[in-house]
Amino acid sequence: MIYADNAATTKMSPAAIHTMLSVLEQNYGNPSSLYRFGQHAKEILENARQQIASLINAEPREITFTSGGSEADNQAILSAAELGKKNGKKHIISSAFEHHAVLHTLQKLEKDGFEVTLLDVHENGLILPEEVEKAIREDTCLVTVMYANNEIGTIQPIAEIGAICRQHKVLFHTDAVQAVGHLPVDVRAQNIDMLSASAHKFHGPKGVGFLYVKKGIHLTNLIEGGAQERGKRAGTENVPGIAAMATALKESVDSIDKNTAYLTHQRDRLISGLKKIPHSALNGDENHRLPSNVNFCFEGIEGEALLLLLDQKGIMASSGSACTSGALDPSHVLLAIGRVHDVAHGSLRLSIGEDITDNDVDEIIRSVKEVVEYLRGFSPIWRDLVSGKKQFIL
Ligand SMILES: *Cc1c(COP(=O)(O)O)cnc(C)c1O
Repeated sequence: MIYADNAATTKMSPAAIHTMLSVLEQNYGNPSSLYRFGQHAKEILENARQQIASLINAEPREITFTSGGSEADNQAILSAAELGKKNGKKHIISSAFEHHAVLHTLQKLEKDGFEVTLLDVHENGLILPEEVEKAIREDTCLVTVMYANNEIGTIQPIAEIGAICRQHKVLFHTDAVQAVGHLPVDVRAQNIDMLSASAHKFHGPKGVGFLYVKKGIHLTNLIEGGAQERGKRAGTENVPGIAAMATALKESVDSIDKNTAYLTHQRDRLISGLKKIPHSALNGDENHRLPSNVNFCFEGIEGEALLLLLDQKGIMASSGSACTSGALDPSHVLLAIGRVHDVAHGSLRLSIGEDITDNDVDEIIRSVKEVVEYLRGFSPIWRDLVSGKKQFIL
């Protein structure tokens, strides 16, 4: 079996599992309780907060624990909108290829009278900082741009965008779910006001994440109740998950250099192997991309069929599109970079992990070639392309 869908979720690291189990077994107290079991749990919680903060160059009180990346995105954007509303500023800048946790939150705000400008992400999947600057208006209250895209892996010029926002006194949030633990993150040096992260994307458990919010920025709480997380996120804390998240993040950050070198090597082998398939194209910039991400379009096939046949060969990947629901909409990310519907349907995202071997990469290349050829063999679209009835796009 080859698991190549690490952008969807990652395998928990043994150290993170160990931390989680030991907290579950030995520290079941409620951190809000005053007796010793409660205080032990509270200590674990605050140690995790301190460790996570230091790994992104933040202060412990700037970290709020959440149920994951989606919640952190919602809370960041709704908080900035609330602040904007108070000052009569109801314009938000974002990009067309954000995660749905961002896009759908923005759609909700549009119904509440906010105006949203979605920046162009260009053919290479990159946003230009000068276009962010051009889009800023007197009434802009927030710029929210993802650090690295979850489908095509492109890495945005976050520090430059942050500097522009700071200069114009506009809040800057980044959905860094694909970046934290994989790329260096320094919220101070990169001028980030708010940042979302999720543990299960860096070998931690599912259902836990965090939101960094620069001190002085008022957070709106999504969940009313007790005074946990300084009154900004009610509910008894997920202590085992939070402790395991801290372990996983420490481990991931400590091995960023080593992992980047290895993954980049394997990613580039995959890209050069898959490029040899006729009428294929890499999606997203070849250099400014996550070391783990490979995303291709193959003309004349359906991504879903490709995935099912790869699964039969023991390879687990994704199409990066929203086809799973049965809806025939191709990925909004591929459309945002200008792929036409027909081509966008034939996409494949491989997101590799550190445990991938040379043989795995060879096997993926061989299998994708075989399956693409096989599917083209009985594709009516492919027949039309080959006979000249239709024009090749790729
Ligand atoms: C996975 C992901 C999310 C959602 O995180 P959850 O913890 O699953 O809610 C948000 N943004 C990006 C870019 C992601 O990859």
